[in-house]
Amino acid sequence: MLSVTIWGDRGSIPCPGKDTVVYGGNTSCLEIRADKKLVIIDFGTGIKPFGDWLMSNDLKDGPIDADIFITHTHWDHIMGFPMFAPLFLPASRLRIRGPVSYEDETLEQIIGAQLTYRYWPIRLNELSAHIEYAQIKETSLDLGDGLWVTTKYLNHPVLCLGYRFEYRGKSIVTAYDNEPFRNLFPTDPNDPSYDEDAAKEGDAAAREENEKVLRFFQGADVLVHDSQYTAAEYEKHLGWGHSSFEYAINAANKAGAKKLILFHHDPNRTDIQLAGLESEYRKRTAGKTAMKIMMAREGLRIEA
Ligand SMILES: [Zn+2]
Ligand SMILES: [Zn+2]
Repeated sequence: MLSVTIWGDRGSIPCPGKDTVVYGGNTSCLEIRADKKLVIIDFGTGIKPFGDWLMSNDLKDGPIDADIFITHTHWDHIMGFPMFAPLFLPASRLRIRGPVSYEDETLEQIIGAQLTYRYWPIRLNELSAHIEYAQIKETSLDLGDGLWVTTKYLNHPVLCLGYRFEYRGKSIVTAYDNEPFRNLFPTDPNDPSYDEDAAKEGDAAAREENEKVLRFFQGADVLVHDSQYTAAEYEKHLGWGHSSFEYAINAANKAGAKKLILFHHDPNRTDIQLAGLESEYRKRTAGKTAMKIMMAREGLRIEA
């Protein structure tokens, strides 16, 4: 059985408080299970409660052994690392993989820089777990026992990978942080720097890149997609590397995804607003798609 459980779904910064009790205030962290096999995506602050949960549940059956994938190294996706309890057990085996944008630093240096005395009372070389770090690009990896992962670059200000997990005919795909590709050349003929050929080429390139991303989602049983903004808010945040709910729903539907989890909530979005948006988008799409649409919520577990 392939499943995903949400331990953190917030973007940008943790936001605990009375307005985020239902959907949660922790930044991104997903637990993927292929039967007993454990995969973790991102070290957002959701990794703290998840690490504690593993200590009182999985540890009974043996040491923690996990493949951990980082979508990208923005702070909201790595800031929970120092508080992941299995790091302090010598028997833990953790394989951490992710993309690195500027190759003058390794993944270990970027994540581990949080564990220096400047920021934290414990240093990286004091962790007891057996940890391997590997920088990855677009690739396919055999994780063993029939579980495969394929990666795809998304559109974000730093290198950011989407992950597609395949297990016994089922699939779970993540696509965050991600913004649709768009034409960066002026398309208005009245613009002084308008160039007809460049405008056409830009359109074609953006379309092609967006189609590649759709092919990556194609037929996913579960798709976890960035939806930080509403369509109206998105217009004011072009180039920030995030999507609107509307884009996520359209893209997922076009690609034939079966269940869509709307993810990476804006830190200012309250429980009341998220519940309202969820019912609004369900109403708007009712009868037009068989796809199930749901807001990410801490504790939500979905089977592929
Ligand atoms: Zn983020
Ligand atoms: Zn980001």
